[in-house]
Amino acid sequence: MKPAGLRTRITVLYTVIFAALFAGFFFSAYHLFRGQLDSDARNEVTDRAEALRGYLKFEDESPVLRFDGDFPENGDFRDATRFYQIYDPVTGEIMTQSQGMLSLGLSIVSREQESPLQNGFFDVTTDDGTFRFHNERVRSPAGHEYVLQVGTSLKPMQDALDRLGSLGLWLGPLALLLAASSGWFMASRALNPVRDIVHAAQKLDLSNLDHRLPVSGANDELDELAVTFNEAFARLAGSVGEMKQLTASMAHELRTPLAALRGEAEIALLHEGSVDELKRVLSSQLEEIDKLTKLIGQLLMVTKAESGLLRLERKPVDIAALLCDLDETLAVLAAAKGISLTFDYDEHLVAMGDSQWLKHAVLNVVDNAIKYTPEGGSVAVRGRKVGGYVVIDVRDTGIGIPVNAIPHIFERFYRADWSRAKDIEGVGLGLNLAKWILDHHGGDIYVTSEVGKGSDFGLRVPAF
Ligand code: ADP
Repeated sequence: MKPAGLRTRITVLYTVIFAALFAGFFFSAYHLFRGQLDSDARNEVTDRAEALRGYLKFEDESPVLRFDGDFPENGDFRDATRFYQIYDPVTGEIMTQSQGMLSLGLSIVSREQESPLQNGFFDVTTDDGTFRFHNERVRSPAGHEYVLQVGTSLKPMQDALDRLGSLGLWLGPLALLLAASSGWFMASRALNPVRDIVHAAQKLDLSNLDHRLPVSGANDELDELAVTFNEAFARLAGSVGEMKQLTASMAHELRTPLAALRGEAEIALLHEGSVDELKRVLSSQLEEIDKLTKLIGQLLMVTKAESGLLRLERKPVDIAALLCDLDETLAVLAAAKGISLTFDYDEHLVAMGDSQWLKHAVLNVVDNAIKYTPEGGSVAVRGRKVGGYVVIDVRDTGIGIPVNAIPHIFERFYRADWSRAKDIEGVGLGLNLAKWILDHHGGDIYVTSEVGKGSDFGLRVPAF
């Protein structure tokens, strides 16, 4: 984003809208004003005609204006006598004409046989401006028809319109200038916080992910933007922190078995031992290599799950068959540790989801139960349908989990101190992965445990 560009665009848009509004308003006002003046001019000319008609007399069948007594002071009448004429529409003869008409050189006569004259208005343009005339038929007592023509100058109307036009001409640019500068000012004010956010965001990098964008507290859209960015940075910081932790733990977890492998190989090379001795070293190395393979497998699964690219299948999963498989896989392990492992599940137990991932989740929990149960203990796995869910219950008589550790055991790389102290192999990824899998199936995982007595893990998956 380029703030200056945006500011210009907002200003231009604001000015254009303002100009359109101003032009629309001005032209409507101009139009209305002109319409009003026009109708005033029509009224004026008809009023004048009316005023004049009162003094119209016929002498020997000829129309003349007669004022008995003084010249009327009536304004309409005075104006009416400026531009008028009476003519015979048949012969075209002008019977009488005002001085104003004479000096204008106007003799507008329309003979009936040429163009039948209508009562009404018409405009005539002269060197002295435009005039509006009104024609009216008047009848003599003997029934002869004449045309009474009264006019008025439209100059005052034209002058008023010209004044309004020139007012618009200098007011328009002035208003536009004002609109542009206020638009620029408002856009700058509105965009200043954006510029601050940009500057703050530019300073952010991996080394200072704790830095946050300023929030003004106005609770407006810009605050929302800053808060959204801050939340995104917090998530980013969290992910980066987890990645750092993952890398550090990976290095740590890989270093120990690798060092052991190297040490054993060195000793075997230094002391030329018997074939049996070498076999013992190799089989111990195989164990270490298995642990490494398992660890790398878990890490790969976690990274795959976290990548966001993974798509879990949504198919019916035969949980009874899945538990049967696990029974076969883990029986040897449990037997080797002297632990009684029992499986008990309903025949028709079908869940909805991804069989591979669900198997990982259950395997991790049962594997933990065996891992954290001392010799002579027992692990009981039970599968049943409860409501719309398939519930797998894994109960052991192992070391249990301290109350303060329970909220953390599903966190990545979390290992209760006991597990570390007792040197039980593990990295703290198993339950985290199991939780991720169940969450992404619309299910959940929960635990109750008592130190020294054992733990009870429950896994719930939506049933098919
Ligand atoms: P780990 O690789 O350490 O087993 P997990 O994520 O599977 O990692 O488990 C996290 C921690 O939860 C373990 O380190 C252990 O302290 C505790 N835990 C998990 N399952 C049990 C269990 N059945 N009994 C006792 N503690 C358990």
